[in-house]
Amino acid sequence: MERNQTKAQRVDMVIVGAGFGGMYATWKFREMGLDIVSIEEGGDVGGVWYWNRYPGARCDLLAVDYSYGFSEEVQQDWTWSEQFAAQPEILAYANFVADRLDLRKHYRFNTRVEAANWDDARQLWVVRTDDGNVLEAPYCVMSTGPLSKPTDPDIPGISRFKGPLLRAAKWPHDPVDLKGKRIGVLGTGSSGMQIIQTLGRTDCELFVFQRTPSFTLPMRNRKHSADYTAELKRNYAAIRAACRMNPTGGARPVSTRPFFSLPPDHRQELMEEAWAHGGHTFLGIFSDLMTNQDANDQVADFVRDKIGEAVKDPVLAEKLKPRGYPIFARRPCLDSGYYETYNLPNVHLVDCLEDPIVEITETGIRTQSGVTELDVLILATGYDALTGAMLSFEITGRGGRKLSEKWQDGPRSLFGILMEGFPNLFMSTGPNGPAALANIITISENDVDFAANVIRHMQREGLGAVEARLAPEDAWMEQIRRLAQGNLMTKAKTWWVGANVKGKPQGMLMWTGGFHKYREACEAVAANGYRDLAFEPAKTLEAAAH
Ligand code: NAP
Repeated sequence: MERNQTKAQRVDMVIVGAGFGGMYATWKFREMGLDIVSIEEGGDVGGVWYWNRYPGARCDLLAVDYSYGFSEEVQQDWTWSEQFAAQPEILAYANFVADRLDLRKHYRFNTRVEAANWDDARQLWVVRTDDGNVLEAPYCVMSTGPLSKPTDPDIPGISRFKGPLLRAAKWPHDPVDLKGKRIGVLGTGSSGMQIIQTLGRTDCELFVFQRTPSFTLPMRNRKHSADYTAELKRNYAAIRAACRMNPTGGARPVSTRPFFSLPPDHRQELMEEAWAHGGHTFLGIFSDLMTNQDANDQVADFVRDKIGEAVKDPVLAEKLKPRGYPIFARRPCLDSGYYETYNLPNVHLVDCLEDPIVEITETGIRTQSGVTELDVLILATGYDALTGAMLSFEITGRGGRKLSEKWQDGPRSLFGILMEGFPNLFMSTGPNGPAALANIITISENDVDFAANVIRHMQREGLGAVEARLAPEDAWMEQIRRLAQGNLMTKAKTWWVGANVKGKPQGMLMWTGGFHKYREACEAVAANGYRDLAFEPAKTLEAAAH
């Protein structure tokens, strides 16, 4: 059948994405009785964990936090083996949830959305997928993920490289033989660091092309004992409640103690203790690290000293020490012996600030000083984050307005959930929410619950369309701008501020006020009878039925 002759399938809701946001949305709206079709480009559930199978891939948020709280059955029946779970365990968890809650039957895998257009007269979205099918649904939920559109570096010759070119973000599903190879890694963010510390300890020659050094803190991962697991399972309700009250959306310590409120020796003692303990403890010892440059400088010095202790060659240590931006203004990584990897004789650092990359050749990377011959090149060069996935297909709202027009100066929305001009389109972990600055699963549950409550309200009142009012949306954006003004996070060139993609509008893309405040803002809108949202009565009997 020709594409333009395809008969549209009518459902209640289209959900895009099979990451943790999309899976939760699929469960939630199915339980509400909606007829759902969920669409996913990958071959199965898991989102970023389906794609990111690179050596050493691991989540550096506590597994207990980075897991669903909505289902007592799931959290009691699943057991995490260690504090910070590796990618295979997280993917196994996603599969466990999909099986247990019977989610796969709603999914069309290996399918991409090509376009979503709002039909104002019929109050529904017309969604076209790359297999030629068309779905029509009053509601659309975009759970497309903040980190799902990888970017290749803008380096001449990248398509010429003859050996395997592997992307951290789209790692092959079949095993890759890297034994004895000369491997180049481009990128030293969270993905690159995990690859480097893992491959560096294997039989290979590893060449790390580092442009901006990143700070990392020791993870000091620990296995969960049976007693610990039992205690955890007894306390899940309290843990989830604590996550929802926490700025990070996780059960983490948060300090109210400014750095300079303590004498120097006490500060040093706290930093040493936190360093020895590992994980994110270090981020929770002082309250003003992202607002007080002097405090930030002293903490950065502490970590630079630790790099000096870890790396034997002092010249190499200097090259690995980040300078010129505040610590934690780029996403802090948690590592397992990252800096120590550079003491190994098979690990070589190419400092691209001193010796910039000129081009990629058929057989390696040419920097100003010469060519490094490589068998394999690994790209860990990041993502067109937060907006990339949503803008990778055409979304047309009310009056034919494209999302790319609305977002031409940067993303705009209310809470990263609803937008003026794009009725009945809900995002989970969208830009303008806390997104990557807090626990993505806690945010997903909040956002999907918010959407579910709005839809229930519409069903009760016989309403056919909802969108954010312009004034509250503008006010929310203004709050984001004001919060970011005093925040050192804006002082580094990162994907957090859109600086890693050429031509992308620059500015803090996320809410920096903490998850707890974000949740309160969402709840206030519901408590105020949804004054900040504009509703339309159902125009047709069919629309009224939803
Ligand atoms: P990223 O943090 O954006 O890092 C990209 C790296 O590629 C940077 O080191 C960047 O250098 C480098 N790069 C880009 N273009 C380059 C070029 N032309 N020449 C040389 N270097 C170039 O990306 P990521 O490591 O994939 O991490 C993205 C986010 O994913 C993280 O911030 C985190 O939120 C998430 N993540 C989390 C985990 C975890 O839980 N442990 C693991 C992986 C990813 P410059 O900085 O100089 O541009």
